[in-house]
Amino acid sequence: MLSVLCALVLAGCAGSAPEAARSKDRLLRATASVSVEPGAGAPAPGAAAEEAADAHEHEDEVDEDGAEVGDGLDPTVDPAAGTRAHSPLAAMTEAQIEELLAKDPAALGPMSVGATNAGALFNGVRMPESDRWELVDPGHAWGTRETVDALDRAIAEVHRQFPGSPKLYIGHISARDGGRLSPHKSHQAGRDVDISYFLDARHRWYQRATAANLDRERTWAFVRALITETDVELILIDSSVQRLLKEHALKIGEDRDWLDEVFQYGSRKPRALIRHARGHANHIHIRFYSPVAQESAVRAYPLLVKRGAIKPTAQYVRHTAKKGQTLGSLARQYGTTVEAIKRANGLRSTAIQAKRVYNIPRPSSGPAAPPKHVVVPPRRLPPPRAAEASRPVRHEEAGPSLGG
Ligand SMILES: [Zn+2]
Repeated sequence: MLSVLCALVLAGCAGSAPEAARSKDRLLRATASVSVEPGAGAPAPGAAAEEAADAHEHEDEVDEDGAEVGDGLDPTVDPAAGTRAHSPLAAMTEAQIEELLAKDPAALGPMSVGATNAGALFNGVRMPESDRWELVDPGHAWGTRETVDALDRAIAEVHRQFPGSPKLYIGHISARDGGRLSPHKSHQAGRDVDISYFLDARHRWYQRATAANLDRERTWAFVRALITETDVELILIDSSVQRLLKEHALKIGEDRDWLDEVFQYGSRKPRALIRHARGHANHIHIRFYSPVAQESAVRAYPLLVKRGAIKPTAQYVRHTAKKGQTLGSLARQYGTTVEAIKRANGLRSTAIQAKRVYNIPRPSSGPAAPPKHVVVPPRRLPPPRAAEASRPVRHEEAGPSLGG
């Protein structure tokens, strides 16, 4: 059996939430961020615990941490500070796009349609085989061109620093056409990747990273490259592993303020790039921006739907469960079915938990909202190293929040 049981479930709104809900999301996020204490979620040691974690039911993964993870349309990104993406399709007329769609759809390039938890992938690119990684499930390793290139680039940087590094395991990215990929809630739009840590020599996929087996140097080099050389939207790593990596980074002289911007562990700053989510002691979950593929999707979405190339993307309402509520009561309240809610949240049983956030599918009335424009925030780069410190530091190099 393939052990691609990504324990990850990412709750998140489908980009259609009303402004009020978005503000509340922001509050929830802020609350969740500051309430995570160092060590929170640290795994119980031992092989038994590891087996239990591998086997455990995915509804447990819908938690506050998951709810913290949005849909890729980060409302806190100031459009003026970020980069608006440009797609080659922007220069084409509707008629030209429609003609290509009919005659040569591949020429339109990859498109990441909609939210990562309610999206689709069009003209996806399969992660190639390489002697630097092993695809655990090649049939579900489809992403955007940007995702594939970004992964390749970050892994190449590790090999540049540490020639002869062992293979990483790459788990799920997305299905060929995106959409729901069990057991995940995200991984729907070609921008999410599950990948192993660098562990000691004989490691296997989905093995838990611990102080005893984690290759801190290579894993940190990899994560650092993701942050500084690619457009990464978020990285999910268990707090216990964040601690090991952050301690290593400090030891080798990385800037403490920058590390506090980057790691949620041991930091009280909101919106860290690397966040804790349950189930991520045995793999890293990376979400990339794919500005071109996302922007192409915005441009072509109505035509893709019109021609039946993709189904309209799903619409969800986020609901924080209260004590005493059941899937049945939620289904009645929102005019949907228990099965539909189970599907939308990757639930295997009907048990739900108070205070957790669930995606409730909207009844399909009227056209789905098209995907939204994406603004890629500036990369969070470390300050120049001491050796370079004599030259003037420009504000944008120092990052947006280092003055605080
Ligand atoms: Zn994942």
